[in-house]
Amino acid sequence: MDIQTLARPRSIGEALELIQKKGGVPVAGGVWLKMHPRPLALAVDLSGLGLEYIRDKGEFIELGAMTTYRELETSSLLAERFGPAFPAALGRIVGVQLRNMVTVGGTVAGKYGFSDLNTLLMALGARLALAGDGEREIEGFFLDAGDKPPLIEKILLPARGRAAFESMRVSGGDFSVLNASAAYVDGSWRVALGARPAASRLCREAMRLLGAEPRPAEPQVRAAARAAQEEGSFSGDLRASAEYRRTISAALVERAIKECAR
Ligand SMILES: Cc1cc2nc3c(=O)[nH]c(=O)nc-3n(C[C@H](O)[C@H](O)[C@H](O)COP(=O)(O)OP(=O)(O)OC[C@H]3O[C@@H](n4cnc5c(N)ncnc54)[C@H](O)[C@@H]3O)c2cc1C
Repeated sequence: MDIQTLARPRSIGEALELIQKKGGVPVAGGVWLKMHPRPLALAVDLSGLGLEYIRDKGEFIELGAMTTYRELETSSLLAERFGPAFPAALGRIVGVQLRNMVTVGGTVAGKYGFSDLNTLLMALGARLALAGDGEREIEGFFLDAGDKPPLIEKILLPARGRAAFESMRVSGGDFSVLNASAAYVDGSWRVALGARPAASRLCREAMRLLGAEPRPAEPQVRAAARAAQEEGSFSGDLRASAEYRRTISAALVERAIKECAR
């Protein structure tokens, strides 16, 4: 990376000042930044802020922004609370070396269209703790850039729930052609589609049709999957056409709901 000045703040306040007042660019794992190099006049290394943790806070679970994919994938707490959703979403991304470096904060901040993790976080109804700017729902954060560059401190998940993740890939290490996640949390369903190829979005009509029943009947699941297919917005790119994505969306959503309801 072409960095003119590298800062290594020791507190969130110091980091926020460098980012919001001095135009510094946050660096998490640096993995995506390195892939798309641009000269950084001021790089703000977030690795000295103690943001690598997965904590049970009773009413919710906190993921520090610098927590890596591998830590999420192998966390016994997340497995106990959400079943195999995290390994299902993360375990096929490139390789263990990459997953040891890439972070949840860098992923949410990037709002990447191809992201698998963001689709799961969207289905789980994650909230973001933004330094100096309170909490925001992940969906609102994706829709609205805000007026200041954000510093994501942590991601808050519900204390428990069930979740499932499905994706279609042309080959193992490639980006998803489409991904889907369903979650049942606090008596209601959430369904998200991602890699459309734009960023993840909730499928509200599908969620409405699923209602409050933790184990919806087969016709209800099918109707929700069809609703997701109809309400979803899809585009084409080098991996697949919009029509292909729309066609497979119902199957992915149906599988995710059934897996979650098991
Ligand atoms: C080759 C390759 C293949 C990949 N394949 C997949 C895949 O199939 N599926 C998938 O889901 N993901 C995939 N990813 C994406 C990856 O998982 C991460 O989402 C991404 O690389 C983020 O990297 P990072 O954590 O190192 O963030 P960085 O590169 O350090 O930062 C990314 C962006 O986020 C900003 N940022 C970082 N942390 C914060 C913070 N706490 N607050 C505010 N802004 C912040 C940075 O300024 C930068 O703009 C792939 C990545 C690579 C390199």
